[in-house]
Formats: sequence, C-alpha cells, structure tokens
Amino acid sequence: MKILVTGGSGLVGKSLHRFLPDAVYISSKDYNLTSELNIIQMFETHKPDTIIHLAAKVGGIIDNINKPAEYFEDNVLMNTLLLKYSLKYNVTRFIGILSTCIYPDVIENYPILETDLHLGPPTKTNFSYGYAKRSLAVQIDAYNQQYNTKYQYLTPCNLYGEYDKYGDNSHFITALIKKIHIAKTNNHDDIVLFGNGTPLRQFMYSDDLAYIIKHCLDNNIYDNMNVATPENLTIDEMAKIALKACNADNIKIKYDTTKPNGQYRKDVSISILKNKIPSFNPIKLEEGIKKTYKYLLDNKML
Ligand code: NAP
Repeated sequence: MKILVTGGSGLVGKSLHRFLPDAVYISSKDYNLTSELNIIQMFETHKPDTIIHLAAKVGGIIDNINKPAEYFEDNVLMNTLLLKYSLKYNVTRFIGILSTCIYPDVIENYPILETDLHLGPPTKTNFSYGYAKRSLAVQIDAYNQQYNTKYQYLTPCNLYGEYDKYGDNSHFITALIKKIHIAKTNNHDDIVLFGNGTPLRQFMYSDDLAYIIKHCLDNNIYDNMNVATPENLTIDEMAKIALKACNADNIKIKYDTTKPNGQYRKDVSISILKNKIPSFNPIKLEEGIKKTYKYLLDNKML
C-alpha cells in the first residue's frame, strides 16, 4: 500500500502519523490542493494507491461567518480535484474525513443517524463549510455509483488533542485548557465561558479517530459511518471535567449569557461503528485532557 495523507500537518494528521508512520504526509506547503496543477504534480511524484483525505479549510465560528465564500470554495475545490485525480491515477482506496457539522441543524430524534444527512440544512454558523463537507459525501457516493469505486467517508464529532491550534482558531477543549491554565497561573477565582453551559457536545481525542482510520484500512472496512465518543456532555460538565484534569477544581465557572450558546446539540449515533469495530474503546474526556495538558506543559506551549 502506498498511502498519501492530505492535511498531514494538522491535528488529525499528526495523530495519524503515530498509527501509520510509513505514509506520505502532505501539508499546504508541499502542495496547494485548490490548484489543479499542484494536485497533478502530487500524484505524479507520489503515485499513491491509497488516499486519506484530511485536508480542509477549518476555522472558528467568527472566521466562518466572515469568509463563507472561501470556506465553501476551498473545500469544494480540494475535494473535487482530489477525487477527480484519485480516479484518474487509479487510487483504489480513498477515505474522506467529513464532520458532524454536515448534519441538519435540528432534527426530531437524537442521536443523529448517518441516514439523517439530508433532512435539513446545516447550522447557520458554519453553513457553507457544513455544505461543502456534506457535498463530499454526495461526491463519494456518486463516484461509487458511477465508477464502481469503493471510496469511503467517516464523519467524526468534535476533536481535541495535543496537536490542535493554540491561537485564535483553537477548538473548544483546547481553548478551555488554555483558559484554565491562565486562571491557574494568575490565581484567578474563576473562568468565564460563553452562553449558559447547557449545550451538549461529543468531544473525541484525535488519536481515537486515527485508530479508526487505520483499523478500516487494515480490516477492509468500507462502511460510511459516524465516529464519535459515547460521552455526550454539557459544556458545564466538560468544563468541570477539564478543571479536575488540570488540577484546578478550586476555580469556579461563570457564564456570559450575553454571548450565544450555539447549536444546542448535535450528538451522532455510533451504532454502525460499534457493530463494525467492537474493539473501539475511546479514551474518556478527563484522561484525554490530562494527556493534552501534560503535553502542552512539557513542550512549553502554554
Ligand atoms: P487542521 O488541524 O486545521 O489541519 C488542516 C490541514 O489541512 C493542515 O494540514 C493544512 O495544511 C491542510 N490544508 C488546508 N488547506 C489546504 C490547502 N489549500 N492545500 C493543502 N492542504 C491544506 O484540521 P484537523 O482538525 O486536523 O481536521 C482534519 C479533518 O477532520 C478535516 O477534514 C476536518 O474537517 C475534519 N474534522 C475536524 C474536527 C476537529 O474538531 N478538528 C472535527 C470533525 C471533523 P497547513 O498546515 O499547511 O495549513
């Protein structure tokens, strides 16, 4: 197998490196995947038979709201060109990584099933990103139907881990760890979170997604499925867990209710995943945060 991983410098890419050390890992510095010429050069140089497509233009809510055209165009271009040339260069195995923000903003029954994909539009805060990622599911299904390929997509919930971004664009858990660390080192009594703490989220350690990707490759599993932790927790529960994991239980949580809560819930079903991969045993949020916090402290990243 000659495996090429796009998005190799990102959170998931770096986790995957632990599981698939011999694959080729590509970042935007190697090839800009929105450029057809760059994509052709990449295929000519590496001649992969397997593609794990992690690359995406990913960002926070504010950036998504300010630049919806860029989020749509970059993601649709990358996905379209990569699929087109995967077929042309006889790639036999393709795993595209989607995101649970492809699903409808609100549905009648939770958790969300894979078959609920087209029951409504994605949430407004990352509407164009959500639609672009949803389009990859449509595209992969269309390729399989028209070209008889066995391409696949996995749909992970929110992720966190050692290799997340630590600037303005970091995800919730990473931003939370940073907030707790600042409060701890400055002897503050509390941390302030947006909204009222009631929205529910599934947050998975990025190594757990990497494990699933490798397991699908090794065991010829081709099913399209959600990949998530069974822990579906409120923001308040997660903040309490994070305070404990960072040895900061004495710090109180305050809520700024003038700020929006965001989507109330988006938990996905993992029944297909559990059926196909019974060995899946994701690490608990508390343990994952402990690992991440230790890594950040050891590497002086906070
Ligand atoms: P990330 O840390 O933001 O990394 C994004 C990766 O994509 C980087 O390697 C980046 O390269 C690359 N990239 C972006 N634009 C590119 C371009 N034009 N050409 C080539 N490469 C480009 O993302 P992640 O968190 O690892 O996410 C990986 C996948 O999982 C994405 O498809 C994302 O939608 C999905 N996902 C993520 C989460 C999450 O919470 N993080 C949740 C669900 C699904 P540079 O480093 O060079 O910029």
